[in-house]
Amino acid sequence: MREEILRHLIYSMGKDAGHASVYDWRMALSFAIRDRIVEPWFAATKQTWEQGHKRVYYLSMEFLIGRMLEDAAINLGMRAACREAIESLGQDWRAVVEDEPDAALGNGGLGRLAACYMESMATLGCPGYGYGIRYEHGLFRQRFEGGQQVETPEDWLKQRHPWEFERPEAAYEIGFKGGVETRNGKTVWVPAETVIAEAFDMPVIGWQGKWANTLRLWSAKPTTLFDLARFNHGDYTAAAEPETLARTLSRVLYPDDTTYQGKELRLKQEYFLTGAALHDIIRRHLAGGFKLADLAKHVAIQMNDTHPAIAGPELVRILTDLYDMPFDDAIATAIECLGYTNHTLLPEALERWATYLMGSVLPRHMQIIEQIDAWHLRTNPSRPHYVGIVKHHEVRMGELAFVTAHKVNGVSALHTELVKQNLFPELHKLHPDRIVNETNGVTPRRWLRMANPALSHLISDTIGEGWEADLDRLRELELSIEDKGFRDAFAAAKRVNKEALSNWIGQTQGVKIDPDALFDVQIKRIHEYKRQLLNVLQTIAQWHEIRNDPTADWQPRVKIFGGKAAPGYQAAKEIIRLINDVAAVVNNDPYVDGRLKIIYPPNYNVSMAERLIPASDLSEQISTAGKEASGTGNMKFALNGALTIGTLDGANVEIREQVGPENFFLFGLTAQEVMKHREDPEHARHAILESQTLQDVLQMIAEGRFSPDEPTRYHGLVHNMWHSDYFLVASDFEAYRESQAEVDKTFAEPDKWWRMAAMNTARMGFFSSDRAIRGYMTDIWGTESAL
Ligand SMILES: *Cc1c(COP(=O)(O)O)cnc(C)c1O
Repeated sequence: MREEILRHLIYSMGKDAGHASVYDWRMALSFAIRDRIVEPWFAATKQTWEQGHKRVYYLSMEFLIGRMLEDAAINLGMRAACREAIESLGQDWRAVVEDEPDAALGNGGLGRLAACYMESMATLGCPGYGYGIRYEHGLFRQRFEGGQQVETPEDWLKQRHPWEFERPEAAYEIGFKGGVETRNGKTVWVPAETVIAEAFDMPVIGWQGKWANTLRLWSAKPTTLFDLARFNHGDYTAAAEPETLARTLSRVLYPDDTTYQGKELRLKQEYFLTGAALHDIIRRHLAGGFKLADLAKHVAIQMNDTHPAIAGPELVRILTDLYDMPFDDAIATAIECLGYTNHTLLPEALERWATYLMGSVLPRHMQIIEQIDAWHLRTNPSRPHYVGIVKHHEVRMGELAFVTAHKVNGVSALHTELVKQNLFPELHKLHPDRIVNETNGVTPRRWLRMANPALSHLISDTIGEGWEADLDRLRELELSIEDKGFRDAFAAAKRVNKEALSNWIGQTQGVKIDPDALFDVQIKRIHEYKRQLLNVLQTIAQWHEIRNDPTADWQPRVKIFGGKAAPGYQAAKEIIRLINDVAAVVNNDPYVDGRLKIIYPPNYNVSMAERLIPASDLSEQISTAGKEASGTGNMKFALNGALTIGTLDGANVEIREQVGPENFFLFGLTAQEVMKHREDPEHARHAILESQTLQDVLQMIAEGRFSPDEPTRYHGLVHNMWHSDYFLVASDFEAYRESQAEVDKTFAEPDKWWRMAAMNTARMGFFSSDRAIRGYMTDIWGTESAL
C-alpha cells in the first residue's frame, strides 16, 4: 500500500511527499484503494453478461452516501493495512479519512436507505445498478446564527472526486415539452427542449470484495454547447442560455422529502433520472441479445418512493412508440418489471402533479397515463368512481406507481398495515396480493464495524469473525451477557466512544461534558411529527426540577440534538431556535452545575451520525404513532448498544419485539389511540390542564425565560400547543416524563443497564439490510445471488 500510495501521489496527483497536503494524501490513498476495486468490479460485470443474470435497477432521487474511503477499505479487508501505510508516511489516519467531504445526495432516511441497499446488494452478489442524479450541490450546509438555522450551499465536487468514472460514451438525449404527432400511423413525441444525460459511475464494493455493482449518476449537459450566432453578435449571456438551462437539472437536490412541491424543475429532474435510466436499461437488455417481450425475465426495476414513478408511463412509451409493442403487452411488461416502495403516509408528502403541468412538460406521458388509468378501470370494473390515477385535474403518483407495479411494499410491519388500511384501501381490495412488507435495515459494515471499532473488536473476540455478513450471529453474544467480565468490556467500549465524543464536543462546540453522564441523543431531520419539541419540553421540565432541588442526587445527562430543517419549514426552524435558546440558558446555569447539558452541533450528516451513535446511551425515537414509516436511525442506535425510549411507531414496534419489551422504554399513545384522540378538538387543552409540569414549562417559554431579548418569540408556539397540537405532544408528555424517570433509575443500576444494552446489540441481527435485500430478492425482484 505504501508503494502504491506514493506512486499515486507522484503520478496521479503530481506531488512529492515533501509538498503534499492532507488532500493530496487522501487522493493518493483513495486511488490506491480504488485500484483494488476495479478488478472485482470488472469480474462481476463480466459474469453478469456471460451468465445472463437478471439485474436489479434501483431508481432513487436520493443516495445519502457519506464518506467512501474507509468503507471501501473495510469491505476490501484492508483498513489496517491502509492505516499502517499512511501512518508510516507520517500522516494522521483520522485526519486523512475526515478530509473527505460527505456525498450528501439525499435528505435523510430515504436516501440513506438507498445507500445501505446498494451496499447490501453488492455484499449479497445481487447483480444490479443504482440510478440517481449527480447533484452538483447536495443537501445544504447548516450553521446557527443566534440559534437560528442558516443554510449555505454545499460543494462536494469542488475537489476531485476519486470514486467516480465519467462515461461520456453513455449519454442519452432527454426531451421535455413540445407536442405529439402522428407520422405514418405512428405516434411520435416531438420535444421542444432536449438535454443530454451523461453517466458517472461509482463502483459499490461488497463485503470482502466478492462482488461489486455500479451506482450510475446522471449529470445534465446541454445538447448544444452554446449559441455561436448569438456569441458572435456579442450577446454572451444569451449565448450561454442553453447550457445554463440544462445544467440547472442536476444542479441542486431538493432539500425536503416530507412535503410535495409542484415545481416544474422537480418534475423535470424526476423524468431526467427515469428517462435516462430506462434508455440505459433497454439498451443493455438488447445488447445482451434478448427480446423486449422477455424484458421482465432479465430486468427488475425498483422505484424508491413515487419520485421515479414516471417509469411506468415511460416504459410503456418506449415499448409502444419506439418498439411497436401493443399497449396491452407493454403495460403487462411494465408491471412485471416494476416494484414500488412507499415511504410515507403523510398527506403533504404524496406527489400529485397538475394535469396541465404534466401535459405541458411530458405531453406524451400524460396521454399514456390517461390510457393506463382507462385500462385499469376497464380491467377492474368494480373500481369505485372516486379511485383512479387522474382525479380533479391531478395525476396522483402514488396511485400511478401502485397500478404500474406488480408489488408495492411498505417499510415496516405497522406501516405496511397502514398502507393497506388507510392509503390504498380500494386498490388493495382489487389487488390483495400486491402489497407486501419489507422492513428496512441498515448495513452493519458501515454502522457497526466501521463506526464502532471498540464494540466490533469485543464482538469478534467473543463470538469470532464473520458476523458482519451474518448478523443473526450476534445472538451468540447472549451466552456471554451473564458474564460480568463481558458486561464490563461492553461498558468499556461504550466509554471509549463517549470519551472520544466528549473531546470532539469540547473542541468543536466549546462545551465541556462529562463522559460518565447519560448521553441522550435525538438526531434526525427536524419535523413536527418526529417531536423534537416533546424532547425539549421534557428537558425544560428536568432543568426546572433540578433548580427547585439543586442538592438532590440527579442523574447527570447530556441531551444531544442534531438535524436540519427544510429551508421553508418555519415550524421546524422555530423548534431549532428553541433548542438553542434553551441550551444557552441551561448550559450557563450555575444551579445546574453540569448535571444537565444541551448540545446541538450544526450540520448533522452521515459522518456525524457515525460519530454520535456509537457514543449514545439513549436513543430518542418518539414520533407520533402512525407517522414514522419505519425509521432507520432507531436501528443504528440499538445495534450499537443504546437503549431506546420510543413510541409504538414504524420499526420501533419490531425492534421492541426483537430485543424484548423488558429492554426497551416504551411510552405513549398507539396509532389507533392517536386517531381516537384527534376526534376531541380540545385534546391538547385537556392534556395540558392535567399536567402541572407541562403548564409550568409552557408558562416559562411564554414568559420569555429562554428568549429574554424577545419575550414574545415563542407565543405562537405556545398558543399552538394549547389550541391545536396536531402531533399530540401534550397528550404524550406525562407518559414520556415517567419513562425518562425510569431511564434515570435504570442507568443508576449499571448491572441492569449494561445487561439491557448488550441484549439490544445481541438481538438486532434482524435489522441488517442484508435481510431486507434478501426479502426484496425473493418477494419482489425474483433474483438470485450470483455468488
Ligand atoms: C440514518 C440516518 C437518517 C434517518 O434517521 P431517522 O431517525 O430514521 O429519521 C437521517 N440522516 C442521516 C444522516 C442518517 O444517517
